[in-house]
Amino acid sequence: MFWRRGAREADLEGQAAGEASVPRPDDPPVPTSAPPEDARSASMADGVAASRRGFMARLHGILRTGAADEETWEQVEETLIAGDVGARLAMDVVSRARSRRDPGGPEAGVRAELGRLLPSGASGPWRPARPHPEEPAVVLVVGVNGTGKTTSIAKIAARLASEGDSVILAAADTFRAAATEQLQSWADRLDLPLIAHKAGADPSAVVFDALDAAVARGADVVIVDTAGRLHTRHNLMEELAKIRRTIDKRLPGATPEVLFVLDATTGQNGLAQAMAFHAATGLTGIVLTKLDSTAKGGIVFAIEQALGVPVVFAGVGERVSDLVDFDPAGFVEALFG
Ligand code: GDP
Repeated sequence: MFWRRGAREADLEGQAAGEASVPRPDDPPVPTSAPPEDARSASMADGVAASRRGFMARLHGILRTGAADEETWEQVEETLIAGDVGARLAMDVVSRARSRRDPGGPEAGVRAELGRLLPSGASGPWRPARPHPEEPAVVLVVGVNGTGKTTSIAKIAARLASEGDSVILAAADTFRAAATEQLQSWADRLDLPLIAHKAGADPSAVVFDALDAAVARGADVVIVDTAGRLHTRHNLMEELAKIRRTIDKRLPGATPEVLFVLDATTGQNGLAQAMAFHAATGLTGIVLTKLDSTAKGGIVFAIEQALGVPVVFAGVGERVSDLVDFDPAGFVEALFG
């Protein structure tokens, strides 16, 4: 196991790579890191700017003519589908918006019906569940490669650290050597400890060691990177199930968060992946990445409807600070302006 705290310690440990380095209970507590270098905080408005210029601009154009005739409603439906809301849902929204006869006009009707699709959400920003204060909260981050999983882990870790939590990262994607290296470079940048094993090691062993380390050091949160691809999907789901059993064994009664990273630019395909992961592992939240890179932010409505799992964060850029708490009312507001 590599027990690393930032670049300097990683260098010192260079010679010992591959040997176990288990923290002792009397080790100093894990330090809390400073917030990331670029402090300008991103907003939901940044995240939906492309969607506003994209499918929303078209929707405004259609609805502002005011003529709520058959042709208009058909165009509304098409535009919602083009914006990734999904065909079935777009039809429902249009049919309900029509029958509302909203005094504010058709646009107010569509806005209200889209808003209704998003659960009002938790009050306040997301925090990982921590049933036993003397034990760390555990966050499993799952999803396919390339969706922004590693970047999101870094963003969430940096956010929690800036709020005063001591965070440990666990590199449990041992299938891809580059995954551990990538996470290591984020750990160095953020000066956070990372628990890693050699490529090809048992991911559950990494998780077990990370939980041990977190308990020994009195850390608040363990964030686990998991494989985004294995030889088969069955293997992948089995591995996630094994990781969950490991958590249960090491921290009985723990209630791990399972965050699915969904790339907003993959539209309905990403949604199908989310459903497969949800069926296999039970997701507790969605991190919707690259919202800034899609002109089709309607995917948010489709996700909530299909999964009933809340979007907790939106990724709105590549910087570590480009993470916004997902607030449904704020999202609809930002979308419609
Ligand atoms: P992973 O393979 O799932 O771990 O994906 P990475 O974290 O390596 O991210 C893949 C690419 O997406 C990288 O170039 C990231 O900088 C980029 N990325 C991640 N999140 C966002 C986001 O919210 N917005 C944008 N525009 N790019 C992102």
